[in-house]
Amino acid sequence: MAPLPKAESSTVRAIYRAYEAAAESWDSLGISVGEANGPCDRQIWYSFRWCSPLEKHHGRQLRLFETGNIEEDRLVADLERIGVDVYGQQDRIRLIQGHVRGKCDGKAMGVVEAPKTEHLLEFKSSNAKGMKLIVKDGCKVAKPLHFGQCQLGMHAFGLSRCLYLVSCKDDDTLYAERIEYDAEFCLRLLARLERIINSPEPPARISEKDDWFECNFCRHKPICKEAAWPRVTCRSCLHSTPEMSGDGHWSCSRWAKPISFDEQKEACPTHLHIPALVPGDQIDVDEEAETITYRMPDGRMWVDGASQEEAA
Ligand code: SF4
Ligand code: SF4
Repeated sequence: MAPLPKAESSTVRAIYRAYEAAAESWDSLGISVGEANGPCDRQIWYSFRWCSPLEKHHGRQLRLFETGNIEEDRLVADLERIGVDVYGQQDRIRLIQGHVRGKCDGKAMGVVEAPKTEHLLEFKSSNAKGMKLIVKDGCKVAKPLHFGQCQLGMHAFGLSRCLYLVSCKDDDTLYAERIEYDAEFCLRLLARLERIINSPEPPARISEKDDWFECNFCRHKPICKEAAWPRVTCRSCLHSTPEMSGDGHWSCSRWAKPISFDEQKEACPTHLHIPALVPGDQIDVDEEAETITYRMPDGRMWVDGASQEEAA
């Protein structure tokens, strides 16, 4: 018989629960620069449109995130100890009218390899397995999300170099790579993100196969491939549009007005699902009554609209 796993101690459980109680779940206003170079357009669109439930993290994961923040402070101290001037921590990144957003880990002068060149700073921590890949293949190949984040950060601040500094959580090994700004990469990525932002419907999937590698780790899989319903917010409503002016602004064509962040979270009684998000086949539209009728997989009719009535 295999040995029984040891029960988690009450103290540890209480610490994790305390992290969970203090944690806040929130929707990102736009596409995070850290996720912008993801492999699947549809995944980025679902996040931008707040389709899936807010993520809830276990206390252990929340503590791990805090460890990452502590490590960032340590990396700043390490750089300052060797004479690097670090500034601009948490400076805001805003691209595509504020629909792509983030903050940088800092900027620096006095980087040993090129002291007179201003660098963007991007700090990460990794386990030994991930570190091995980063050392072997470099940021661009081993960590495409990090690479996209570095590039978009340089683009936003008009910088030509980024110091990508990674610490290994297992043995404290450090890895540093000076990444050069790649204008062509950035323009291609920004054009792709603009297409995703302006797409009124979910873009193509990375694969139609259920067991595709990326899909196994995708938090939107229930909506994308398992007929789950999206959250009811303005962002899943066909009347909403991300505006291409302002700073991450959205508007509603039903009420002909801008919609604030708080209003978007609440939605309103005239919410109408974007048809591609309904796990059924659209069979009728009544513009006057503002309803759309669907045949659901079990044969039942469902009417989406102001009265939320059942047709049959
Ligand atoms: S489940 Fe797969 S195809 Fe669907 S959004 Fe996620 S990664 Fe893309
Ligand atoms: S109709 Fe209501 S739910 Fe839809 S976008 Fe306008 S305010 Fe939001």
